[in-house]
Amino acid sequence: NQPLSVVDPEIAEVLELELGRQRDYLEMIASENFVPVSVLQSQGSVLTNKYAEGYPGRRYYGGCEFVDVAENLAIARAKSLFGAEFANVQPHSGASANAAVLSAIATPGDTILGLELAHGGHLTHGMKLNFSGKLYNAVSYGVDPETFLVDLDVVRDKAREHKPKVIIAGWSAYPRQLDFAAFREIADEVGATLWVDMAHFAGLVAAGLHPSPVPYAHVVSSTVHKTIGGPRSGFILTNEADLAKKLNSNVFPGQQGGPLMHVIAAKATAFKIAASDEFRDRQERTLSGARILASRLTADDSKAAGVDVLTGGTDVHLVLADLRDSQLDGKQAEDLLHEALITVNRNAVPFDPRPPMVTSGLRIGTPALATRGFGDAEFTEVADIIAEVLKGGADIAAQRARVQALTERFPLYPGLQQ
Ligand code: PLP
Repeated sequence: NQPLSVVDPEIAEVLELELGRQRDYLEMIASENFVPVSVLQSQGSVLTNKYAEGYPGRRYYGGCEFVDVAENLAIARAKSLFGAEFANVQPHSGASANAAVLSAIATPGDTILGLELAHGGHLTHGMKLNFSGKLYNAVSYGVDPETFLVDLDVVRDKAREHKPKVIIAGWSAYPRQLDFAAFREIADEVGATLWVDMAHFAGLVAAGLHPSPVPYAHVVSSTVHKTIGGPRSGFILTNEADLAKKLNSNVFPGQQGGPLMHVIAAKATAFKIAASDEFRDRQERTLSGARILASRLTADDSKAAGVDVLTGGTDVHLVLADLRDSQLDGKQAEDLLHEALITVNRNAVPFDPRPPMVTSGLRIGTPALATRGFGDAEFTEVADIIAEVLKGGADIAAQRARVQALTERFPLYPGLQQ
């Protein structure tokens, strides 16, 4: 039982370097966050040793008396946080949650209707190389070519045309809120099941800063590691008892074997934190930071340099920078920001004229920096640095110095050693 640095110095070095990277860069990948030390503790705990196939009180292994407590807490807290009747907290990831949802509400060969991947949808909503596109007949709706918004008339027309078994509302790259009540009306009209994937915006929902899909959707899936800021994993909610049973059996034994009890314990803690005032304050700063970023990137001088944001702003935790008229493509912009110590990901804009490995957009998110403590003043400085870089010709060394001033003022995991 020697420490990692002795047993495997190469991996120990990876951990150390990664902690340094997280400390030194401004993390603005919209799907990432920093978990609290309490969550790191559960994930690095002895719970990783335990097999617990089944559900609390109904396990296929002995010795589950303590992990049952953890899973029951995670379930109770998820239900209370989102006002749902049933929760399954076992999915290892968002994609595993989605696989279980689809297998519970559709049969291979059935038609499913979701937001097109190139317009901000997710792989698990019907991409042809993903299980969702291989097993199901996936059709999609896109955003409007002028407004870049989801047009519910288009969703309704597609639903009437294809009569899908499942309609999916949810996204990985979309800067506005979806109208869940309208989606439900469309689903009811064509006899479809409405599944909302709130992986990205679940933290905003938990804080009451985004409409909840729970009253409208037949089933809601989510990750825990994006805006919620918990461990990398997924969960599923529903208000319907019959569906709850099907969801449970489609997670285990349908999709998974033994649950990751160390992660489930960490989820319980993340849900507890998500019910706090501190969490709401963090989500408010997340939203406010994204709005500041959108307004700086749509300022006249940015627009003159060919920089804009899709839909003209944001209602959520991310901004989609539109570089179709810029000298910089998505890849160059991502690389330049990286040089300035800012991490973002390039992202195709809908109807992107550039190839997928290059793209004409960036997805820029504020959750991780809000967790780091940033407020409006810091987000204004960050927005100005990004705007400066994207306008082209910036003094990158000077921008790095501005970033370093921010990261020094907001130390990440102070005292933590890997
Ligand atoms: N659903 C949506 C909307 C997502 O954005 C993501 C992650 O990017 C997932 C599901 C999948 O989550 P995971 O990466 O944990 O499988």
